[in-house]
Amino acid sequence: MSSLGRWCLSLLTSSLFIVPAIAGCVSRAASLPTQALGGTPAPSPTFATVEATATVVQAPTETAVPARRGEELLGESWQGRPIVGHWFGDGHQKVVLVGNIHGGTEQNTHRLALEMIAHFEEHLEEVPPSVTLWIIPTANPDGLADGTRRNAHGVDLNRNADNDSDSCKENDWVSDTHTTEGIIEGGGGPFPFSEVETRLLRDFLADARVAIFYHSIAGMIFVTSCADHRPSAELARRLSDATGYPFSEEGWASYPVTGAMVDYLAHQGVAAVEVELTTKVDTEFDRNLAGLTAVMESVDE
Ligand SMILES: [Zn+2]
Repeated sequence: MSSLGRWCLSLLTSSLFIVPAIAGCVSRAASLPTQALGGTPAPSPTFATVEATATVVQAPTETAVPARRGEELLGESWQGRPIVGHWFGDGHQKVVLVGNIHGGTEQNTHRLALEMIAHFEEHLEEVPPSVTLWIIPTANPDGLADGTRRNAHGVDLNRNADNDSDSCKENDWVSDTHTTEGIIEGGGGPFPFSEVETRLLRDFLADARVAIFYHSIAGMIFVTSCADHRPSAELARRLSDATGYPFSEEGWASYPVTGAMVDYLAHQGVAAVEVELTTKVDTEFDRNLAGLTAVMESVDE
């Protein structure tokens, strides 16, 4: 409402009518519907007209219900593909699912995230009032499009984080990384957080309460390899109870994992886990929805 309209209304509701002043309000108020109706002759400025018009003008926009879900462009990959976050609810606890970080070799994690989005679009009421749930279908859209585990620069986005300042050495960032296929030269990038995608995740997750990264196919749940962050371990146990995936407290034993996102986040105080699906095919939706539900219901404890 314009300040003139507001002033006119207060004048109308006061007991001190000043006729010349109210006449200005009448002509102003009466002109509004005339314009809206495309040239209908203005009604004569009687007091009854003013009251009716004032009622229309008074209809406020404050009654509009704020949106409780939406999507946001968080940034772009090296090749310019969008990295999008879908959010549900408006609580103060930020719970984030990162569906896919290992691109095309773990496509089922991307599909799981899309199924989660579709589910909460239909069941927004399942997000507790204290939670804002964010789902990022993929943080590695170039790898997903190209069918590769690594991003468009050949960097493994889960080996690029700066873990040098936490309590254990074995997870520190290195450029040449270990995989089941042997050592990948430059797989960790030229320096920690060298990649646009990992910087985006680092910044977006800085104020998260919970971060869950999906992978395949170990069929287990992992936390920081320092094993020194109780909120992450509690998150892993709760997810394990609800999903049935075992929590591997010893971490990944087959080769050294360096520069992993969950290690970095735990050191920043964010409860962070990796959930590994059991195959490269299925999304294992039901058990993962059960896990997420258990986490959201307990996040305020
Ligand atoms: Zn993975």
